[in-house]
Amino acid sequence: MDVEQLAQQLVAGDRRALARAITLVESRRADHRAQATELLERVAAPGREALRLGLSGTPGVGKSTFIEAFGTMLTARGLRVAVLAVDPSSARSGGSILGDKTRMPRLARDPRAFVRPSPSQTHLGGVARRTREAVALCEAAGFDLVLIETVGVGQSETVVAELSDVFVLLIAPGGGDELQGVKRGIMEAADLILVNKADGDLKPAAERTRTDYAGALRLLRRRPQDPEGFPKALCVSAQAEAGLEEAWSEITALAEWRRDEGHWQARRSAQARHWFEEEVREGLLAKLRDHPATRARMADLGEAVAAGRAAPSAAAAEVLAGMEASPGEAAG
Ligand code: GDP
Repeated sequence: MDVEQLAQQLVAGDRRALARAITLVESRRADHRAQATELLERVAAPGREALRLGLSGTPGVGKSTFIEAFGTMLTARGLRVAVLAVDPSSARSGGSILGDKTRMPRLARDPRAFVRPSPSQTHLGGVARRTREAVALCEAAGFDLVLIETVGVGQSETVVAELSDVFVLLIAPGGGDELQGVKRGIMEAADLILVNKADGDLKPAAERTRTDYAGALRLLRRRPQDPEGFPKALCVSAQAEAGLEEAWSEITALAEWRRDEGHWQARRSAQARHWFEEEVREGLLAKLRDHPATRARMADLGEAVAAGRAAPSAAAAEVLAGMEASPGEAAG
């Protein structure tokens, strides 16, 4: 593969080049990895910065419908919109390109949009790196908005929150006044809660749900990186395409405020540091896995710990000490 040529096409905004580039960063082959690293270095272009918008919500809440309507509204305004899906468990049927194209048919055909499904069967660490690199590629290709979507299961929303400049949680109108089992962590990460399906018979329930969440958000926190009134809860209808303009103006108002106040860059810096530390942790774990003597020692000591012949902490210290003593044993 000609990495230089791919980089040029990508920076020129060629969507097919972008798709090929993302395939490259997703590959586990060592030679592909080397090319991906070279490509990322070549296209690292400060000055091209997209708004990274994280979007999370449980299956059925209306994410696809929302992204389709919201994305189309923005491309009609001349913005270029990329959509990346993060789905480590591959909960979505197929997870294929075709699947995502049918989920968002209008956007998939839109010349100003780029829709990319999640790769199937990847562990979370792999998903995080792949998504981070895909976001960087979309930015290099000149997209104005990179929408990073995840189903609210497992840890994927934490990954998305750590990748986005603004994080939006989509929820459905509830029956009662209880908060729908939304995890505290994700509530804390949300900048904007959108109660979808605020249309027809569901409208009153949506308004009640919005009020409940607005109250919960007020109780939960007020961060220094939030302007007055944030985090916020709004009603929208992805289907009726209602409230989308308002949602966008809230998102851009928050983004601009963060930029002006220096929180934007601070957040990206903190995220970069987080991912650096994650990579080191991942690397250490990989080393542990690839170290045959240590694996054998762990199996033995694991038995001893299970049988009560050794204390967990002392056994762990022994494994780590053994690894430091023979670092050269690591094998692929
Ligand atoms: P996803 O699993 O989160 O991507 O959800 P989908 O976008 O596939 O939507 C799930 C279901 O909810 C579909 O039957 C949609 O037609 C419906 N839906 C999505 N948005 C709305 C909305 O704004 N109002 C109503 N009434 N239904 C909606």
